[in-house]
Formats: sequence, C-alpha cells, structure tokens
Amino acid sequence: MEFIDAHLHFGGREDEILGCQDIYVKLKALGLRKVYLLCFTTYGLDFSHIIRVAPYHARSHYHPDFVDSNPLLQKVRDELESEDFIVPFLDFRIIHGDVESWLEHYMPFGYQGLKTLFIPEYDDFLQVESPADILKTTKSSYLDWQQRVMDYGQQNSLPLICHLNLHNHFEYATEFLSNFPHLQINFPHLGFSRKKMGQLLDKFSNCYSDISGLYDHIEKDPKSYCDYIEHYQERVMFGSDCAWNEAKRTEGYLRRVEGLSLNPGCRRKLLHDVALKFLGKENQG
Ligand SMILES: [Zn+2]
Repeated sequence: MEFIDAHLHFGGREDEILGCQDIYVKLKALGLRKVYLLCFTTYGLDFSHIIRVAPYHARSHYHPDFVDSNPLLQKVRDELESEDFIVPFLDFRIIHGDVESWLEHYMPFGYQGLKTLFIPEYDDFLQVESPADILKTTKSSYLDWQQRVMDYGQQNSLPLICHLNLHNHFEYATEFLSNFPHLQINFPHLGFSRKKMGQLLDKFSNCYSDISGLYDHIEKDPKSYCDYIEHYQERVMFGSDCAWNEAKRTEGYLRRVEGLSLNPGCRRKLLHDVALKFLGKENQG
C-alpha cells in the first residue's frame, strides 16, 4: 500500500544520520513514497541557545558540530539518489531578527514547506523555553517573526506544519488560520484535542492535522478514532514523528493503520492522498 510519512524529524549527528539507507529501502518496499522531513536549523545562533528549543526527549540527537541540517540534508539526498522522495520543511521555531534575509539564505536548499513549534511562553509538557526568553526579546516580536514566515509561506505556496497545543493556544491557531486563509496549516497530533481540532476543521478549509504520536491512544479507542478520521477524511494525514535514524518504527505504525476498520478509500486518503493535497501536489500523485 502506497503511503507518505508527513511528519519525520531530521537534524542531529552526522554519524547517526548517514548510513540509514537500509531502513528506507525496506520502507520503500512497503510502499513509502515520500517523507516530509522537518529540518532543524541554527539561524546563526549558538548551540547553547538552539538546544533549549529542542524537546527534552530529542536533545540527545543534537551535537554542537552537527546542529544545522542543511549540509547533512544534501548528503542524505545524495545517498538516497532520489530527488522527490525527501520533501524538506524548514523549521523556523527560533527564527529571529531579519526574517526575510534568513528565508533568502535558507530557501535555496530546496525547502518545500515550513515547520514551527509554537512556544510563546515556557512549555512545561515539552520542557522547552520560548525563543522570546532565550533571545531576551518580547512576546510580540516573537509573534511578529513567526507570522512574517507564515506570510512568506502563504505568498509562496509553502504549506506549514505548526506544532501547537490547542488546549493552551486555540485562539492563536484560529488567528493564524484566519490571517492566512491561503496558507495550508497542519496542526499535528490532532492538536492534542480532537474536540478543538474538530472546531477548526469545521471552520477553516486550510486546516489539516496528522495522527503522529497518537498510535497508543488510537489502539485503546479505535472505534472513536476511526469515526473521527472518516468524518475528517479530507484533512487528516499519516505521520511517524520519528527521527530520521529511528524510522524503522514506522512499519509498526503503518501496520496499526492497516489494522483499523477504515473503509479502503478513507485509508488511502489518510496514508497518501491528503498529504499530497496538503503539499499542493494532488494531481501529480
Ligand atoms: Zn514532531
């Protein structure tokens, strides 16, 4: 069965990242067609700053010498020898200052989408500080920087994956969706609230989500998740939330989706079609 991993993390140590081809050979044989690869970058900041916006469970993947994704991204692309398999998303969670110049600097690396982790204040679940505090600036500058990138995304048809907890930041999510009606936005993990996510999906046609990180929850309550996914079958995607070198777990997630009693058309949309639509490529799949 063809599938797309719409949520795969990149960035980290070269020795971990290179030499993982066997994982991808196997996943491709299972039907993996594309990965949306979320790439961590430095924006000229020191490692001591950057590491503070990495969730605590992911910090071991980062090392001062290898923190910027861009050179590694090219090496991995060379290794896999397949241009359209990797769809890189530029992570701008800590972009700052002259946003437009940073975008001009990074976009030539071939980014086809944008990714952020929205942290306007300390996040005690992820144990991540707000870039506003790290960079000793105001919350309003942080919000301005974030929205300038969203504006760029809208103007250049680059979809956005925005990690945001709807329990805490539902109003911001609503604001982004209405301020940028032509920006396709995925709030992953069903926004950590199916109910609030449903309100956004009902109201905004540019709103999407994914089921990454939720496989244990789905297994405990498959019927209600299947009903939900079928109801919003045009907007919900499959994703692993794995790190590049840990993607062998993806097979297990795929098996779990295959085991759900979704109708075949709906399963195909979840695993493949919606991700292409989100990217603006549904006619080329
Ligand atoms: Zn993630």
